[in-house]
Amino acid sequence: MPKKPIIIANWKMNLGVRESVDLVKAVNDQGAVSNNEVEIVVCPSFTALASVSDSLHLKSDIKLGAQNVFWEYKGAFTGEISPLMLKELGCEYVIIGHSERRGHLGETDEMVHKKAKAVLDAGLIPIICVGENFDERQKGQKDYVIMKQMNQALEGLRLSEDSKIIIAYEPVWVIGSGQAIEAEEAEHTHIIIESYLLDIYSPDTLAKKLRVIYGGSVDKNNVAEFIGQKTIDGVLVGGASLKVEEFVGLIKAVQRIA
Ligand code: PEP
Repeated sequence: MPKKPIIIANWKMNLGVRESVDLVKAVNDQGAVSNNEVEIVVCPSFTALASVSDSLHLKSDIKLGAQNVFWEYKGAFTGEISPLMLKELGCEYVIIGHSERRGHLGETDEMVHKKAKAVLDAGLIPIICVGENFDERQKGQKDYVIMKQMNQALEGLRLSEDSKIIIAYEPVWVIGSGQAIEAEEAEHTHIIIESYLLDIYSPDTLAKKLRVIYGGSVDKNNVAEFIGQKTIDGVLVGGASLKVEEFVGLIKAVQRIA
């Protein structure tokens, strides 16, 4: 955790507008906010983004992210959301290539690449999700799968002065299972990811512009083990970010060791 740890809450298709605003207010009221030690990002559903954004602007240091985006800025793309629209709402982060979108909606590495490029060009920070499924893991293909996903997502992406990228390593088979992998095992994969990133980017760029985080059944009881690892710069949290007590407990556990 040499970098300031980041906690990103992915609320998926849960919580309506009122519930999302109430949750963010409760978290804020309990002092679980971004500070010098920890950065917190919430990613509500699209319908709740505007209201959550308003409540964050009023009184919080919690940051806003979206769960998806389209790769064009405007035009005849019915039902899609542009990076510029997200920016207008105050979003700073966008999750791209989550395994649920890859699995249920056929999101490919090529789409992930186009989205990452559009997001960076708009001055937003992509959170690019990579990770193996159970079958791939059993066949010993974990590292190959992750390298392939990263290679296709990042190929030719230019980082400007202000660009930043987050890579979220999420073993697909533990997402939502309640059973995370061992923190040491995640660290081992993170070391592989970092060495791959060093093939493309300079150590300075890696230090200043890139973060590699872990996701998959992180909760308030195990988060410190992940954050305590040297190359794990933060966590992407689904289920444990949906309830005030659990989410605040998780944030406070990170604040205690950061
Ligand atoms: C996720 O969906 O990105 C995730 C990490 O979910 P969970 O924490 O519920 O495993």
